[in-house]
Amino acid sequence: MLYKSTRNDEKRVTASQAILQGLAEDGGLFVPERIPALKVSLKELKAMSYQETAYEVMKCFLTDFSEEELKTCIRKAYDDKFDTKEIAPLRKEDGAYYLELFHGATIAFKDMALSILPHLLTVSAKKNQVKNEIVILTATSGDTGKAALAGFADVPGTRIIVFYPKNGVSPVQEKQMVTQKGANTHVIGIHGNFDDAQSGVKKIFGDKELTKIMDGAGFQFSSANSINIGRLVPQVVYYVYAYAKLAALGEVKEGEKINVVVPTGNFGNILAAYYAKNMGVPIDKLICASNDNKVLFDFFETGIYDKNRPFLLTSSPSMDILISSNLERLIYRIAGDDAKKNLLLMQALSAEGKYGITEEMRTRLMDFRGGFASEQEVAEEIGSLYQKTGYVIDTHTAVASCVYRKYRAASQDETKTVIASTASPYKFARSVMNAIDGKYDAMDDFELVDELSSISKTAVPRAVEEIRRAPVLHDTVVEKTEMKAIVEKILGLK
Ligand SMILES: *Cc1c(COP(=O)(O)O)cnc(C)c1O
Repeated sequence: MLYKSTRNDEKRVTASQAILQGLAEDGGLFVPERIPALKVSLKELKAMSYQETAYEVMKCFLTDFSEEELKTCIRKAYDDKFDTKEIAPLRKEDGAYYLELFHGATIAFKDMALSILPHLLTVSAKKNQVKNEIVILTATSGDTGKAALAGFADVPGTRIIVFYPKNGVSPVQEKQMVTQKGANTHVIGIHGNFDDAQSGVKKIFGDKELTKIMDGAGFQFSSANSINIGRLVPQVVYYVYAYAKLAALGEVKEGEKINVVVPTGNFGNILAAYYAKNMGVPIDKLICASNDNKVLFDFFETGIYDKNRPFLLTSSPSMDILISSNLERLIYRIAGDDAKKNLLLMQALSAEGKYGITEEMRTRLMDFRGGFASEQEVAEEIGSLYQKTGYVIDTHTAVASCVYRKYRAASQDETKTVIASTASPYKFARSVMNAIDGKYDAMDDFELVDELSSISKTAVPRAVEEIRRAPVLHDTVVEKTEMKAIVEKILGLK
């Protein structure tokens, strides 16, 4: 299996090269030449652990990894960093199946991929005789940053630099990042929003001059952002696993289709569900849930992607995104794997902030539905689900949960549905507790955590306990125009 860029039909690279590079040289995203079919039957999958499922899925994509290499990566990633043996448990509440993707080290779904990416990357470096130190450069809307820091901290041969919007992440998210240990970790706040951070990082990646200077100094960049194919592939696993679990539990008949609802920002998670569907998992609708930054909802409604609109800060900050990078992989696909067509649209996006797709392309989006939830609806969803069931969900999951209910009411579609539950409520305790009862507003962040533990009858996760008293180790904040300069400073290039 080889990989090509969404902006260039000619070149091919191996999986390990695609993982090392992150982004293609032409600015495109790497995609597999075709989406492979699963090689195992549902009957076999039903009996498999998460780790075994991961191997069966990932080996179809990462064909230049040996069995031993891949199994070692999987073993190192999905171990007792996760607080449950199932890794991604399903929870049935009020008729829907919440696929809990937040049982890893940083209690958000980014751990599902970022606990394995460092291992995939170091194996890839070895395979390709890379001598340089690998510098991971990442922009985060909150959850990626911490998950990447946790994954890469003290991994030999790597350094990691994370940029986050200083006023665009939750207090717990910020505290998690600025207390990160590890001599190879750097955390920088910027005055700007997530899109500024992401654009800045992309610009640094594309800086040929800097790349040359870095190479001379023994460094090379790689990306831990969700554009890296090494993030996307591990995310396909849990959709395969979830379906097999539902079948094993007798919740679905063999082959019965399910819907999937995904709270979406950069479009990585839902794209993984689309890949799972294309691999043969019986998924019917892929429902893309947005918060008030509903650029994707509008896209699915109209066929026009238009980021020219106010950027809103919401209670689901990891979805406060106007440029959904991974959507490019879907655009490429619905353009008939046509790199030229895709390139024109992406050029329009960067020049005018918008593009429209053709009617023909729209017909290839039939599997997708868009939905969105306002801030008030999100709060109501958290409150009403808790009142009904005692189950507490976070703000991102609540966006999806609300969109699911609205979709069902409007469409009368009774298909069984998996909702991707992307963060622990502990990570967004203030918004969650306020949604449940206004009286919590006066409490400080850690009082809220204890209160949440008591009303939800769940233990405070390790990740939260750890930051209660941890000292701040990173306090640099720069202007968005200074991102390159700070990178040069950290690497001692200037
Ligand atoms: C990153 C994130 C999302 C959005 O996922 P994408 O793959 O970027 O669409 C949703 N919820 C949480 C909690 C996240 O951390």
